[in-house]
This record gives sequence, C-alpha cells and structure tokens, in this order.
Amino acid sequence: MDKATHMDSETLLDHEIRPALLRGFQDGYRWQDVTCRPYKEDGAALFRDISRQVLFEDPALECELRYFEMAASGYSTLERHEHAHGVMILRGHGRCLLGDAVREVAPFDLVRIPSLMWHQFRASASEPLGFLCMVNRLRDRPQLPSEADLADLRAIPAVAAFLAG
Ligand code: MN
Repeated sequence: MDKATHMDSETLLDHEIRPALLRGFQDGYRWQDVTCRPYKEDGAALFRDISRQVLFEDPALECELRYFEMAASGYSTLERHEHAHGVMILRGHGRCLLGDAVREVAPFDLVRIPSLMWHQFRASASEPLGFLCMVNRLRDRPQLPSEADLADLRAIPAVAAFLAG
C-alpha cells in the first residue's frame, strides 16, 4: 500500500465509518445523528404526542430497532398486523393493551406482541413513556380497528376503560 492509499483509508475511517458504528446517547433520550420524527395529534385521535427515532435500519439486519416516546397522557396507535414486536420499556410508566388484557408497564419490562394482536401504549399522566421496539425490516402495514372491532374490544370492561383514557 502506498502512502496516498493509506491516507485515503484513514480519511474514510475518520469521517465515514466511525460515526455510523457508534452513535452516542444524548440528553432527552436522543441519539447522535438520529432524526426524531414527531407526530402531531391527528383528527381521529388514533395516536397523540408520540415521536419516533429509528436507531437501526441496516439492510444487513433482518430487523429494525426504533425508540418511541409519548408525552405524559400520550398514546400510540391502536393497531394490529401480521408482524410481531419485541418491546423494552426504557423510561416512564404507563399501560398497554395486549389483545383482551391491559397491563401496567415500567422501565425494563419486556413486552411481546404476537402476530395480529391488538395493541396500544398509553403514558401515565405524570411523565413520558419511552420504549424500544424491535420489528421485522420487511413487514405488513398496520391494520386499524373497524367499528365492529372496537365494539368487541369495548365489551371487555378493562379494555373499555383503557380505550376511554
Ligand atoms: Mn404495532
């Protein structure tokens, strides 16, 4: 290797490869050079006060890892899909709907969401709720509940209370 080639590879290491290999954790549950996409409230109130950061989306991996965070009293979309989720709570407290059950969640709890299970997360009124969510890189689009699906869910008292906020 001549000197010029050697210097080129050093330049690559310093300016292109290293930043992609390590992204530092920053204040406010942000990661270096990761875009934070905030969602605004939507008219149908399907979700509220939630942001998303995609931490890993490498074509060499079969999965993606995202960080979702909802503000106090915020909630994620009520949905289901063929793909599964693996979730780890990172900050805050709240509740999640898992099929016909409502469960409390706290930091470092693990939540497994199987294929086609209705699910939704709600932050407590006092603090944000943030979690890591692992998902297939190639996946189907989420399905939203029909009125009939919502009626079935509301027939379960604990679920009705959860959906009412
Ligand atoms: Mn989902």
